[in-house]
Amino acid sequence: MKIMPNRLDRGYYLYQEEFEKKALEVLRSGWYVLGSEVASFEEEFAAYTGAKYCVGLASGLDALWIAFRVLGIGSGDEVIVQGNTYIASVMGITINGATPVFVEPDEYFNIDASKIEEKITDRTKAILVVHLYGQASNMKPIMELARKYDLKVVEDCAQSHGAKFQKKMTGTFGDIGCFSFYPSKNLGAFGDAGAIVTDNPQIAEDVRVFRNYGSEKRYYNKAVGTNSRLDEIQAGLLRVRLSHIQELEDEKRLICKRYLDELHNENIQLPSIRPGATHIWHQFVIRTEQRDELINYLNERGIGTIIHYPIPPHLSEAYRYLNLKEGSLPITEKYAKTVLSIPLYNGMQTEEQTYVIDAINQFC
Ligand SMILES: *Cc1c(COP(=O)(O)O)cnc(C)c1O
Repeated sequence: MKIMPNRLDRGYYLYQEEFEKKALEVLRSGWYVLGSEVASFEEEFAAYTGAKYCVGLASGLDALWIAFRVLGIGSGDEVIVQGNTYIASVMGITINGATPVFVEPDEYFNIDASKIEEKITDRTKAILVVHLYGQASNMKPIMELARKYDLKVVEDCAQSHGAKFQKKMTGTFGDIGCFSFYPSKNLGAFGDAGAIVTDNPQIAEDVRVFRNYGSEKRYYNKAVGTNSRLDEIQAGLLRVRLSHIQELEDEKRLICKRYLDELHNENIQLPSIRPGATHIWHQFVIRTEQRDELINYLNERGIGTIIHYPIPPHLSEAYRYLNLKEGSLPITEKYAKTVLSIPLYNGMQTEEQTYVIDAINQFC
């Protein structure tokens, strides 16, 4: 059997007719960027998260850097973020000239809230919380610290659509929630797409203007903005997917329940769920000291895996200028050497799940 880490085609075939009908509808409408599909998606996605406003953008990275831009966070400012994240989180900070200050993760792969306070200085302006792999972060102590030190909170929800902490949706705790709808995310488009959500009408308005060259009225530009407009076809296809998000989430949860119940291998550590948090399983991430051996072993059996992420941002070439040496974030670095994402996707067949489980259980 051949099993890839992800199968985006399966997600398409699940609702093929609806996707094709919507795509044709948009193609025939003659309106392709920022139109009624985008407006409807923004309304529906805001309602889904429980936020007052949603503004559609061109990508998750745009959501992040535009969020910091409209909050006025840039050169000379520090933003606290966990060390073990996808590098886009960090670029959202540094594109604006601000400095990332890394904090080690906890056992749930999210920022260790107990290690934030020691990193706060008089330059700290915000905490960027990443709900990594689909699990909500420990929001109660994080929000308490933000209030105590008067810090902004931005949430990177690129992997956490629908994940909750104490029954509240990720993305609605802080000032701005940033979403990516890259095809492989839990709510994926068929190309690049992103959005911010917020309860603050001024922030929503500022992002709305900024995404379209700083223009509210055509050819009248009140700020130096950017082009981060969302396409009608992506918004329309996202509306189709959003209408099925509960069943998509439930399906992944069932697959991961099988993994949690049936994977038994003393060389492998399974992910765990924080009390009070929900996990929407963007990735199922195991840990093992024998990672190279496991990757090769699974490859030989036709099973593909991915490492999220092999090089932590502070050790990447892009951030050499921060002068953070190997050993400066030992937990982050340890995760980078031991984590492995096993196959997981909507439309994954029962036999495929069983094949993966049996193979991993037989690894020694
Ligand atoms: C995917 C991702 C992003 C970036 O989203 P894009 O749409 O690819 O720009 C940011 N942060 C995290 C944690 C991600 O997984």
